Amino acid sequence: MKQFLTLFMFIMLGLLGCKNDNQSSVSKSTDSRTPATANVWFSDPEILRRTDSVIALMTLDEKIGQLVLYTSDWDVTGPVIRTNYKDKIKAGMVGALFNAFTPDYIREIQKVAVEESRLHIPLLFGYDVIHGHRTIFPLPIAEACSWDLEAMQRSARIAAIEAAAEGINWTFAPMVDIARDPRWGRVAEGAGEDTYLGSRIAEARVLGFQGDNLADTLTVLACAKHFAAYGAAQAGRDYHTVDMSERTLRGEYLPPYQAAINAGVATVMTSFNDLNGIPATANRWLLTDILRNEWGFNGMVVTDYTSVNELVSHGIAADDKEAALLSLKAGVDMDMQGSAYYDYLKTLVNEKKVTEEEITQGARRIIAQKFYLGLFDDPYRYCSEQRRQQLVYHPDHLAAAREIASKSIVLLKNDKNVLPLTYPVKKIALIGALATSQDVMLGCWRAAGDTTKAISVLQGLKEAFPTAQIEQTNGCPAVLESESGFAKAVSVAKSSDVIIMVLGEPANLSGEASSRTNINLPGSQTALLREVRKTGKPLILILLNGRPLALEEEYNLCDAMVEAWHAGTMGGHAIADIITGKSVPSAKLCMTFPRNLGQVPIFYNMKNTGRPEDPNDHYTSKYLDSPNSPLFPFGFGLSYTTFEYSEPKLSAAKITENDQLTITVEVKNTGKFDAQEVVQLYIRDDVGSVTRPVKELKGFEKQLIKAGETKNVTFTITISDLMFYRQDMTWGAEAGTFTVFVGGNSRDVKEAKFTLQM
Ligand code: BGC
Repeated sequence: MKQFLTLFMFIMLGLLGCKNDNQSSVSKSTDSRTPATANVWFSDPEILRRTDSVIALMTLDEKIGQLVLYTSDWDVTGPVIRTNYKDKIKAGMVGALFNAFTPDYIREIQKVAVEESRLHIPLLFGYDVIHGHRTIFPLPIAEACSWDLEAMQRSARIAAIEAAAEGINWTFAPMVDIARDPRWGRVAEGAGEDTYLGSRIAEARVLGFQGDNLADTLTVLACAKHFAAYGAAQAGRDYHTVDMSERTLRGEYLPPYQAAINAGVATVMTSFNDLNGIPATANRWLLTDILRNEWGFNGMVVTDYTSVNELVSHGIAADDKEAALLSLKAGVDMDMQGSAYYDYLKTLVNEKKVTEEEITQGARRIIAQKFYLGLFDDPYRYCSEQRRQQLVYHPDHLAAAREIASKSIVLLKNDKNVLPLTYPVKKIALIGALATSQDVMLGCWRAAGDTTKAISVLQGLKEAFPTAQIEQTNGCPAVLESESGFAKAVSVAKSSDVIIMVLGEPANLSGEASSRTNINLPGSQTALLREVRKTGKPLILILLNGRPLALEEEYNLCDAMVEAWHAGTMGGHAIADIITGKSVPSAKLCMTFPRNLGQVPIFYNMKNTGRPEDPNDHYTSKYLDSPNSPLFPFGFGLSYTTFEYSEPKLSAAKITENDQLTITVEVKNTGKFDAQEVVQLYIRDDVGSVTRPVKELKGFEKQLIKAGETKNVTFTITISDLMFYRQDMTWGAEAGTFTVFVGGNSRDVKEAKFTLQM
């Protein structure tokens, strides 16, 4: 009888939740600055009706249960607060679980929810699928250097396919935090320093994870995180305070989150940090006034890991109960792992501090997501072992990981065309402890990636140079200081035709809770490079790291420098493809590389100051011991070919607020390789009611230009590209002159001027 009842309830809920075909209504707006075009998460009246019919059956406890998210005991990313989640699921007191995967395990847990709980409501299963699930793609910061939106969307799509094939239906990605301080270990997880590029990448990744139809079994809910301004932690120390003007926050840090929302992201995660005195998880201005009321987001808001409880350490709540109250009032729907909602929301209702309706609102948003995913049709729809076997590590996924990794590798120096290594090489000295590491390739957030499947640099080079003799030696450890291996490294180098040194940071030196107070190569790696350089052999330096490093000395000690980041499962092959010229480098930095740590924070779209740097004038804005300029500017990256830019041609010298302006530049490939170039457009508002950055990225085009070919690249801008938060904090443009810059990076540009008349 009990079984019959269960089945009956389940069929009822299934009927309530029959398939949603309306996902194409998800907004694909590309302008992060315009108000959200659709409240997509409740745009489907059928889903709304079905959601409400489930809500009508729920007790207060069960509604609170939907707001509770626990980690499974498989994996954790923060303080472990163990809980018997299976019993709580049975009691209907859990809405979602994370850090659990594989079809069998998900089925086992889902079964408890849908067969043993009173209302049989299926669970969401979340996981940090950040840059791949099993097939690992390059770190997000690396991928962002491809400036290839299609490639990033594809990599997120594949990550979603593999994750969904393992039972997951919700990823905690993309991270869209603007980051300008390389000390912060989490720069690895984002798209770098620029608002425009970061916004476009946020959209691409959301579309990739969520696909066209969430009811498809190979799509997952995405989560834009960490809202907000987590990347601006003071001194680059993780979890640290953020204090910034509203103008900077709205103008530079918030747009990527809004872009993700306009692209239809289903969920948003709050950040750990204090923002101007109010931690994000308790910040009603952020979570309700801006996110919901201004932007129209009506998806689900989840906290970061125990960030409700952390309101006590922040000193804004006296205890977990008050923390739960503040978070709910601020607009948080789901409490990740901290149990404060579970423990206190009912008491808070009884004490009349919160209303049941406030809890119902959150439960509705969560249940609606489950309908969108089709979980009420079939809660096991993500649990197919056959699909898992077909899709995980699919050869097409590995091929895409290789291709996208090669698109993410930035060539920073190539004196005397030492690269590509197309000339006969008999003996290669491969020096550096990271050269043989498979682990380093997977980077700091490798989800379920398998280290043993990763291709090291040594493996990649062996396959690429089958007839060459490759002699590998560590020289020194990657982190610890030791010079005992130097002599051997020097002797190996002496007997070779070419030296390839692989230096950098092991995977665990970047990512969460991995800030550094120095951004040099760790250990004795630079000293090793100095010694090896003395051999005078051609020296190619390959860098594997998760953040911009200070590399001025290293730059002078090598002939070629290749920033390969932590390049993912197929990293070693992708690096070999670049070294051999099978792939021609086309990546451009998405974050400035300083000369030294003292310059940090350093980013291209800074303000001019009243005394811009003048080396001949002491009383100007500069350092006594370093130029202001970075080692490598934002947008920088070389190719095996060279490009020549014409002066930009403007369609008009003057425009009005209703006009479009086209900017055309001729780009000629003056070298010998067919190659892709990222043509970049920057604009400066020469005089404003508030000071404006020296230039801001407003567009880019990645184009294949054949050797000897000239391409016209055209950008069209309208008044919305000229808008900013004016002195009175209204969003709009101001009449006056503007400078347009076009080039292959943010420093080496050609200029033109136009006037906006209003
Ligand atoms: C991180 C989030 C992550 C969460 C769940 C936290 O520590 O800040 O980015 O999604 O853990 O693993």
